[in-house]
Amino acid sequence: MLTVFNIQRFCLHDGLGVRTNIFFKGCPLRCLWCNNPESIDPFPSIMFDSRLCHKFGDCIKNSGGSIRPEGDGLVIDRENITCFDALRDICPSRALTITGENMSINSIMSEIEKDIPFYEMSGGGVTLSGGEPFAQDGELIELLAELKKKDIHISAETSLHVPWENIEKCLGLVDVFLADLKHTDPEKFSFFTGGNAGLVMENFRKLDASGAQFVIRVPVVPDFNFSEPEIRSIIDFASDLNNSSEIHFIPFHSLAKEKYLFLGKDYVFGNARNVEKSEIAPCVEYAEHKGLTAKIMN
Ligand code: SF4
Repeated sequence: MLTVFNIQRFCLHDGLGVRTNIFFKGCPLRCLWCNNPESIDPFPSIMFDSRLCHKFGDCIKNSGGSIRPEGDGLVIDRENITCFDALRDICPSRALTITGENMSINSIMSEIEKDIPFYEMSGGGVTLSGGEPFAQDGELIELLAELKKKDIHISAETSLHVPWENIEKCLGLVDVFLADLKHTDPEKFSFFTGGNAGLVMENFRKLDASGAQFVIRVPVVPDFNFSEPEIRSIIDFASDLNNSSEIHFIPFHSLAKEKYLFLGKDYVFGNARNVEKSEIAPCVEYAEHKGLTAKIMN
């Protein structure tokens, strides 16, 4: 089984052609600006939008005591709740939803197969996203093998913050890695993501040495890495790799604000300013000066 929180069909802006994005649940990092906060926990998450709640009470009755009314709203004991399946489709108004489910390779493939004609017409394929796809257990490789049997192009978005073996065993199956290089400073990386910058940089060197095709992606985040010396350090690392040719800059936006609210999580970046594409022009210029093809993404 693989843990998935969304399968998005007909994606046009995430790589070559029409793509199907599979969003895996579970991430070893905790980036404070994460746009997919529902992806971080490896187990199902409860999302609650109080604006849609008509107080039917079905969730309370089926929660085994983990959800109770309080004032005009609900108190959800997210730490102790276990009855996700009993709650999954219980809310008639979809105010309370469960994100994340275990899916078999067959059920994922049957979703993907619906889009094969579009891949053939457009040169598209499947994009693994998340969360962190390479933090899934051993069955990921089986899914990749099934996709390859059908000659489907595979892109994989990754933080590279996983043991190298998780990547290594997938090398011959993934066509292109879209790998994040968020920061080169260990302390800053650790404070903002909870992770180890050294692991990511080491995995970049190994990916480079493996001959795999990869694109480097840099989230441009105010107060984290958006200063000239920090961005230059990231670009310098990228351009020192032997086989890196393309770098994508992804400007920060705070569109995920509501998701944090629905998950009952604090959003440290909720009031941070959005980064405009025009502000990234000097980053592009420096990357091109260092011999990289640079793009600003949405
Ligand atoms: S690596 Fe990506 S999915 Fe994981 S916490 Fe960071 S931004 Fe979110």
